[in-house]
Amino acid sequence: ITSKLPEVGTTIFTTMSKMALDYKAINLGQGFPDFNTDEKLQALVSKAMADGFNQYPAMAGVPILREVIHQKVKNLYGRSYDIDTEITVTSGATQAIMAAVLASVGAGDEVLVLEPCYDCYLPAIRLAGAKAITVPMVSPTSKNPHFSIDWNRVQASITSHTRLLIINSPHNPTGAVLTESDLDALEQVVNDTQIMILSDEVYEHIIFDGVSHLSLSSRPTLAERAFVISSFGKTTHTTGWKIGYCCAPKNMTTELRKVHQFMVFTVPSVLQYGLAAYTADSSTYLALPAFYQRKRDHLATGLAQTRFKVLPSPGTFFMLADYSAISDSTESDFAIWLTQNHGVTVIPVSAFYESPTAPSSNHHIVRFCFAKKDTTLDQAIERLTKI
Ligand code: PMP
Ligand code: GLN
Repeated sequence: ITSKLPEVGTTIFTTMSKMALDYKAINLGQGFPDFNTDEKLQALVSKAMADGFNQYPAMAGVPILREVIHQKVKNLYGRSYDIDTEITVTSGATQAIMAAVLASVGAGDEVLVLEPCYDCYLPAIRLAGAKAITVPMVSPTSKNPHFSIDWNRVQASITSHTRLLIINSPHNPTGAVLTESDLDALEQVVNDTQIMILSDEVYEHIIFDGVSHLSLSSRPTLAERAFVISSFGKTTHTTGWKIGYCCAPKNMTTELRKVHQFMVFTVPSVLQYGLAAYTADSSTYLALPAFYQRKRDHLATGLAQTRFKVLPSPGTFFMLADYSAISDSTESDFAIWLTQNHGVTVIPVSAFYESPTAPSSNHHIVRFCFAKKDTTLDQAIERLTKI
């Protein structure tokens, strides 16, 4: 067989989680909670199963879940997506992203991606036959400790072939969040173009310090050209269930669903019914910022006692830390060394670049996941203070 993705190996998340198991390390690498989801949600899913919701649900998702998504997006961001034609429930955000990319671009098209970026974007673009054009984010400096977007560079990367721009806020792996002025700049960039946007908002409810998430669905000029994608995995501590969704205008949803129906057709019914009943109560997701901010601060306080230098994390359940006071090795070598010699697993940020081994992809920064029990965080901190 001739590989369609010759440059792709096993994902960094799987690789590092396996290494964590092999070395009995504390896994602060792959992003998933090590605590259980709410018992209320477990009971709702069991009830759906007992009630007999065990056959194919509607292709676009069970209507009651689409209704709940509709209400949530309307209440939070002010846009009223049509349940029948504009909301699709998917197998996690990953499948929504793949379906959106396959549906919207092909040979001869260019897709702009900001680096560092989540790992599934570039392979999706290549499978679609399109070309990924990566635009580096501005790296943190002592003056501005956040990764940020240089919109002039984005503008300068647009050609007559640009069909899609992928953005992600809150951003994995950097934690950066888009501001109103970013959205203003994005509006300027796409104004008078045919460019579509894929907005990955899976961490929409994990945002800190009193800041509100700015969804693309809140801006009509952006929403009318955007696939807005989210995931219940992050919001309900159920990354293993793989239930996500995509909100997009009718013409874009029509094309997305053509791909969706032949990729998976639909996704598990009992999980959809359970999530619908659970998410109808907004207090479930409105509690997330405080819940995770406490964990963020817990880990940051702990890391302050080590030789890692923490970078601020405005959103997501990830935190970056600079290790240059400990080592000058590459991020990948450092992550392996840390697992093997000190029993804590992290993710090298260079893995989120098209060329992970390039010197420009290595900033001596690694990513810690703080979606963990306090006891897990404490054990990791104890090990890290010894380095
Ligand atoms: N986008 C980003 C930025 C992510 O971090 C993740 C997974 N953690 C996904 C998409 C995929 O989400 P899901 O597990 O729902 O497929
Ligand atoms: N999104 C998760 C992370 O960033 C990983 C998901 C996966 O393993 N595919 O860690």
